[in-house]
Formats: sequence, structure tokens, C-alpha cells
Amino acid sequence: MTDTADRTVFRTCPLCEATCGLEIEIKDGAVKRIRGDRDDVFSRGFICPKGSTLKHLHEDPDRLRKPLVRRGFDESGAPVFEEVDWAEAYAEADRVLREVRDAHGNEAVGMYLGNPGAHVLGAATHTRHLIKALGAGAVFSASTVDQMPRHVASGYLYGSGGSMPVPDIDRTDLFVCIGANPYASNGSIATAPDFPGRIEAVQARGGRVIVIDPRRSRTAEQADLHLSIKPGTDAVLLAAVVRRLLETGHVGRGHVADFLDGIDALRVAVDSFTADVAAAATGIAAPAIEALADEIGAAASAAVYGRIGTCTVEFGTLTTWLLDAIALLTGNLDEPGGMMFPQPSHERVRAGKAGRPYRVGRRHSRVNNRPEVQGEFPVADLPDEILEPGDGQLKMMVTVAGNPVLSCPDGDRMDEAFAALEAMISVDIYLNETTRHASVILPPPGSLEKSHYDVNFTNLSIRNVANFSPAVFETEMPSEEDILATLALIALGFGPDADPDALHDQVISGLLQAEIETPESPVAGRDLDELVALVDGDTGAERVLDAMLRTGPRGDGFGAVPGGLSLSLLREHPHGIDFGALEPRLPGLLRTPEARIDLFAGPFAADLTRLTGRLAEWSDDSRLRLVGRRHLRSNNSWMHNLPVLVKGKPRCTLQLHPENAADLGLVDGDAAIVRSRVGELTAPVEVTDTVMPGVVSLPHGWGHGKPGARMGVAAEHAGVNSNVLTDPSIIDPLSGNAVLNGIPVEVVPA
Ligand code: SF4
Repeated sequence: MTDTADRTVFRTCPLCEATCGLEIEIKDGAVKRIRGDRDDVFSRGFICPKGSTLKHLHEDPDRLRKPLVRRGFDESGAPVFEEVDWAEAYAEADRVLREVRDAHGNEAVGMYLGNPGAHVLGAATHTRHLIKALGAGAVFSASTVDQMPRHVASGYLYGSGGSMPVPDIDRTDLFVCIGANPYASNGSIATAPDFPGRIEAVQARGGRVIVIDPRRSRTAEQADLHLSIKPGTDAVLLAAVVRRLLETGHVGRGHVADFLDGIDALRVAVDSFTADVAAAATGIAAPAIEALADEIGAAASAAVYGRIGTCTVEFGTLTTWLLDAIALLTGNLDEPGGMMFPQPSHERVRAGKAGRPYRVGRRHSRVNNRPEVQGEFPVADLPDEILEPGDGQLKMMVTVAGNPVLSCPDGDRMDEAFAALEAMISVDIYLNETTRHASVILPPPGSLEKSHYDVNFTNLSIRNVANFSPAVFETEMPSEEDILATLALIALGFGPDADPDALHDQVISGLLQAEIETPESPVAGRDLDELVALVDGDTGAERVLDAMLRTGPRGDGFGAVPGGLSLSLLREHPHGIDFGALEPRLPGLLRTPEARIDLFAGPFAADLTRLTGRLAEWSDDSRLRLVGRRHLRSNNSWMHNLPVLVKGKPRCTLQLHPENAADLGLVDGDAAIVRSRVGELTAPVEVTDTVMPGVVSLPHGWGHGKPGARMGVAAEHAGVNSNVLTDPSIIDPLSGNAVLNGIPVEVVPA
């Protein structure tokens, strides 16, 4: 491949969880056209408006191509950066890390991992090695503004935070969608290219779609039934559904019944959640709640799926647990048409391996004493960890692909905290509202300049598929994994000139040695040097991937399984390989001590009691509640620098219902002040009956244009940062997840 040769290439879109196949036409060394790959085994030609913008992202003049080192500040206080070569950038990273460690110890260095890293092969293979090398005890990520309740509920129920059931939407008879809008998001924790088409296919084959959401979203408009619910009260609704299912006897079905415990305890725990009680809290009429439960119970198959609106609330983990409880009780967990577990081709899980009880709280955050979950602290704690003096105060951060100043709670204080750091190393393609505080920014290659395999999203995929995409363009820039490996070696004391291949080799050897020592592995007992010599791949991450694929559940076992999967076999299939619909995986997947599912293994009984204590407040509440929303042309803050995605009517508007607008004397286009306990902002008003009365909505990821950031297009479409309203003192205590939905706010004309 040369960069100037005209050609057509195929690759997986890395921009969201849907993983659509793209057909990219290259002419004169540039992208001429991008369209959906009609032969992709999974997406079959589907593409959304974001997919074709990989060209614009590749060509974005603001995307960093060289490292930046901060040289000081101008008179206005904005940081002044200088472009440097990689040797100088690594030397600076080495210098600032050593200075902070010498002055304050290793505990003064924290990490933040953003969402885009989840879509990058090199980040998936190497980030954990950087965390380990840094020895950073304080790790934060976008998971605690997004999905940590899903991990925690899975941890208690199935023994692993990584075992997440997804809706088998292609075979279900009833799709119930709570707090999600796949017509805009294309799905999350459910990788399903053309999610809208799959929803419509449910209806076309005679099935039903029910959406439960405070907003009449595009998905709700398509549904057979939309139930408007007060933000944050999903757990009450689901507890009432569970109660009704138990009362009507729609339980005990499916093969999970053979290893499911705790039904009687659940019956007692939800007894007070009658439909009338739930109606008062949720705003959904009692007969509708009973009808919902009856429809789920009677359906031949039902996939009851909850996403962001069910996770980013005070009872996020309880809500997620109740979603799974419904699937478990009705025989819809691990059964076709219900909620099922994918099996990615690189998976390390060995069937039948004993587990240990799921644990959180091995450590606690220094200032707020909140428990560690999945190795992380709540990102809502990050400003306090930086700003509050004392032993262990964070003085330095390493950020990878993130912009927490816009995406995390209490945005203004988050900004103040990053400004207070003594040093910061950022791995990022943009000089954004967060990385403007960095001492050194190390930009990885653009999306078209690196190879791709979805490590994370094949784990959430509604079919078992595998795709590999080679890099489209060559680049002089070091790969993501080279940057992360070099930082890891710097952290380990090998200095800025260390060769990243040394770490790649160590990772591959470690992975293969573990396989050699695993009796069930296809390479058990083989010689390490022999296997290492057989590993294929042009980059460090590709070599790690090849080792994972070949020792995975469909792997060729380095020759032991003829015709098995390898990187080279994937290369021969540019449209991917389809391994078919999901298959039941329980009880083999369980990592609970007895390989059984105990509905009450975790703190859920106590959390139901906490939920009961909130019922009166919700029933009497007349305050406006703020929720987020997603747009098809946006994902996170970093997509706002592409003109093609931000053109048209401003989208960062405060939506409110006509009744509330009339009460407040507001009309379309007015400016309104929105206040929460922690902050306030002014936003343009959009009056719409798509939000229910009592609910206002702002999208997330906006608020661009801070001094020193270098995202010119985003600055022209700045919008407001909804997270200045997010209260960091209120989180889901079981998971540490921030509460971004259902925030009580006051709205007044500006
Ligand atoms: S739906 Fe997601 S994966 Fe598919 S083209 Fe759009 S951004 Fe890319």
C-alpha cells in the first residue's frame, strides 16, 4: 500500500459502538468518498451521518500531528504551546513525571481515561500496562459518568463486571427500551449497526416495541407504546414490574432457573412496590405498569434493555440489577430473543473456572471516602482529590483521550482543578478544554492512520463477528501503543529513549506464557519461543491481537486447530467474519463462587430500602428536573470540531414543555438561566412537547471556546456545558456513577 495509490478500502467505523463497515475510496492520496460497506457481514451497508466524517476528522487542521509542550502563559493567562519533536516531548514527559514523584511521591500521580480510547486497538491492548507502570492508585474514567452501574450489577450477579448481557434484538418478540435513544445513539452496551432498522424489523415480524423515557425521542416516536416517566424513577417502575411478575406467576422459566437463587427473598423485598406506589413516583398510571409487566411476562421472548438514562441516576446499579432480575425471572436471560452474552473472538474466559465473590471498596477515595469500583474512583471525586490539601493529594494527571472538563460533573470546578495541577501529560488528538492544562500533549495517529479491531465492542455485540481493518494511510507518528508503551517505560524508569518494542514483547510473552500454563488452552505446554516467533502483525497492538485471537475461543492455536482464527485469516476477510447469532453461555460464563446466580448476592436488599425512602419525595416533587439528550450528529465533545457535524440550527438548546414555558413566560429563542445546587448557565430556549411537563433537557459535551483550547469550529458553536449543573456530591453509591439525569433545577428568564 502506498498513500498515493488510488484504491478502495474497507474498515470498521471507530466513532461509536455500532461498528459499521465503511467503504472508503482513496484518490490522489486523499479520501474521495466514504459510504457504507454493503458487504460488511454485520452492518450490510448501513452508515450514519458521522461515518463519512472520518475524512473530515483526518483532514481537520486542528487535529494535532506533532507533540506540544507548554512554554508558559500569555498576558490573558492562556497557555502557550510549542510544537516539538517526539524525542523532546518524551523527555519533557520524563522530566515532569520525575519532578512530581520526587517532590510528592507516586501517589500524587492520577489517571483519567476518556471514552474514545475504548474504540482504539492500541489503547485497548496497552492502557492497563501504562496504569500498572505508573502505579497510579487514583484512576478515574468516563465509566463513572456512563456505565459503571452495568459493570457492578454484572459483577454481583455473574461474578465479572465484564459479563454484560445485550438485547438479542434480531430475534426478540418484545423490545422494551428504557432511557435509551438508539435512533440517535445507534446503541450503547449493545453493538448493533442499523439499530433503527433492527427495531423496525421487530415490528415488521409482528413484535412490539415499548419505549420508556421522559422524552418523546425519535425511538419513542417509532415505538408501539411510549410511557413518559419522571427522571430517575426507573428503579421504582422496575421493582413494581418484578412484583407483578412474581404475583402473576410469570417466573421460573428458562434454563437459568436451574442455577438461580434468591427469588423468595426478592418477593419479600419488592412487596411494597405496588403499581399504585410506582404510579405516584413515576407518573405512569398503575394499569399501564401492570400491563407492561403482563406483556413482558406473556411474551414468547422479551429483551428489556436500559441504557444511559437508567445508569446516570442515583439508583443506577439497582435499576440495572432490576433489569436483569426481570430477564432472569421470565427466562429471558441467556435465551434467544432475550438478553444474551456475546462471545468475542479474543476472549480470555475459560469455561468452568471457579470465581470469587465480587468485591468493591478495596480502597477508598482520599477526600470523600468513596469506594473503589472496578479499580477506579468516581470521577465526581476528581476535583476534590486535586484541590483538597493533604497526604496523597493529586499533583499530576495523565489523561488519555478525554475531556473531563466538559464531560464530567461540576465542570467549572473540574476546570479549576486541572488548572491547579503541577504537571499533566495528555495523550490526545486535540488541544481541548482539558488538555489546555497539560504540560505535554502526545497526539496519537488519526483514525485512518491506524489499524482497527474492536476489542471492547465485540464484547457487546448482538452477533458474534470479527473485523480487522489495516491502516488506510501511512504516518510518521508513533502508534497509540508505542506512545502508551513509551510512557509506561518512562514510568518504570527506563527513560525517554526506551524502545516501546521491549514492552510490546513483554506483553506478548506474558499473554502466551499464561496460555501455555492453562490446561484448557490450545497451546498448553508449548514452547514460548516457538509461539512468539509465530506471532503475526505489523505493530505492537496487532501482534498482541494476533496472540489473543489465536489462543481465543475460535483461534487456530498456532496450528493446533486447522482453519481457526488468526490475524492473517481476518486480513483475508475485509468485510469481516460472521460467527452467527449469540448462543447461550451460562452457567459456563459464571465466575460466582458456586457458579450460581444469587439475586441477593450484592447490596441490593439495602438499596431497595434506600429506594423506599425516596418514594415520598418523588410523589410530591414539583421541581423541574434536568435530563440529557443525544443527537445523531454528535457523540462526545470531540466531535464538535467538524463543520459537517455542527452545521445547521444550534443544537445546544434548553428544551422545555409548553406548559412550563408558559408558566415561566418563556418562548422559543429566549435565553433562560438554569440553576442547580452547584452552578448556573444561560441557554437558548426551545419549547417542545417532546419533553414531558416538569422536565427540561440539555445535551452534553458542549461549552467549548475556553482560552487556550485549539478547536476552532467547536469554539464557533460553543454551546453551554451542562455539567456545570451536575452535583458531584450526589452519585449512585453502589457504583460511584455520577448523576447526570434528574438533576433538580430552577429555570428563570435571563
Ligand atoms: S452508527 Fe456509529 S459506527 Fe456506524 S457509521 Fe455512524 S458513527 Fe460510525
